[in-house]
Amino acid sequence: MRRIVGIETEYGLLATADGKRLASDEAAARLFTPLAARFASTNAFLGNGGRLYLDIGSHPEYATPECTSAADLVIAQRAGDALLVDLAAQARAAEADEGHDVTFRLFRNNTDSYGNTWGSHENYLVARDTDPRVLADWLIGFLVSRQLIGGAGHWRRGRFTLSQRGDLLGDVVSNQTTRSRPLINTRDEPHADPARYRRLHVISGDTTSLDAVMWLTVAATELVLRRAEAGGAPPPGPADPLAALRAWTVDPDAAVPAAGGGATTARALQRAHLDATRALAESGDAEGAAAHAAWTRLLDDLDAGRTEGTEWGAKRRLIRGWAERHRIAPDDPRLDALDLRWHELGADASGRPRGLAALLQSGAEPIADPAAVAAALTRAPSASRARARGLVLDAARSRERDIAVDWASFAVHDLPGPTPAAPQTVKMAWDDPFDPEPPGLHALVDRLRDEPRIRALGGFTPPGPGVPASGA
Ligand code: ATP
Ligand code: MG
Ligand code: MG
Repeated sequence: MRRIVGIETEYGLLATADGKRLASDEAAARLFTPLAARFASTNAFLGNGGRLYLDIGSHPEYATPECTSAADLVIAQRAGDALLVDLAAQARAAEADEGHDVTFRLFRNNTDSYGNTWGSHENYLVARDTDPRVLADWLIGFLVSRQLIGGAGHWRRGRFTLSQRGDLLGDVVSNQTTRSRPLINTRDEPHADPARYRRLHVISGDTTSLDAVMWLTVAATELVLRRAEAGGAPPPGPADPLAALRAWTVDPDAAVPAAGGGATTARALQRAHLDATRALAESGDAEGAAAHAAWTRLLDDLDAGRTEGTEWGAKRRLIRGWAERHRIAPDDPRLDALDLRWHELGADASGRPRGLAALLQSGAEPIADPAAVAAALTRAPSASRARARGLVLDAARSRERDIAVDWASFAVHDLPGPTPAAPQTVKMAWDDPFDPEPPGLHALVDRLRDEPRIRALGGFTPPGPGVPASGA
């Protein structure tokens, strides 16, 4: 796949301190204490090329490094989950040292019982010269029906919907992310050479917990994007996309008015996109072909009434089964708690996953190879510029350098300049997200490791052990 993809995931968090439930901002602040202690900030780019951060008062967020396949993206997300679980363990231990019994529960979900919602943001690199309106024309019909294959399901007081957020999105395309909650966010922030690229921001999706669903959702979206880039008109979508989104989250077979006349359903629209991408998938890369085949199987299963290949279907079956076994009514709040448990991260003392989705998945062949996930804790899974970012960050941090880092650039402020006693700022731009070896990378890494640190006001800092001082 010739595309950069990345996902930002906001996690659900519940915490207690000495038995009392913490408010969400307090919970997040306590969770991030170990990160703040290490990086002097609650916003850090990591050696694996990703970013772990907390906006004031909001949910913990992990943004994956730039990936070049959907399979790598699943690996990168799983590494992010593991980093958050580990952060929670560190935070709990630090609180215990202070005499507090603090518990954290983390969830890959998007909504709480108060109707608050938080997001999953998919990022796809597209060429600057592709007309974004053409992409939107294709994507809108696809995205409102995509909950059929990518919805995480939501059970609340007996009401079941395919998507966690289907009821809560308020716009189709906009530059807002929170106020109007669109499907596609148009803020133009490419994090790359703006003359060549755009970053398409899809913010309507659910955070999913089954690897196969995560993978197919991204890979199918990528195929639709490729198809849009090839030109031509999309399959006719619903006349009112948001009304369709809301109707289909309840019933994907609800017939809604189609643009240009007639009616359509989520299943019909997914099938139309499957057909529209077939030729391109068959003549393209291996992942696109595999995704098209998996998507076909899934839609065939759905046509035959088998829903377990979807996350919403697997979740619904589990909840209904439990309700039947225990003879409880559909609106019993214990079933809402079961829905929440579906999304939970982490494991109990015996290593058994806490999350019901994770438990279900633990019996199957993993899509994200555990060794690859372990490697992705410290190194970006794809050979994108995230690898360069990681190398430079690791070298700089091994010497506690004064740095500034971003998706597309890096600066270090304490390398010796032409007069060695005065610091020099050295910058490096990573304008090409595909390039794991931007010019000058290794020379910069060597300088970060080998040269002394010069502080603007404090003057000379002696080099680390075994490193010769160069001047001053
Ligand atoms: P914020 O969430 O703070 O409003 P943001 O949308 O810029 O800002 P980040 O949370 O920093 O998002 O995450 C950016 C995501 O975009 C990451 O997952 C990253 O891998 C991905 N990404 C970075 N550059 C590109 C690019 N040029 N094309 C596609 N994806 C990119
Ligand atoms: Mg973000
Ligand atoms: Mg974002």
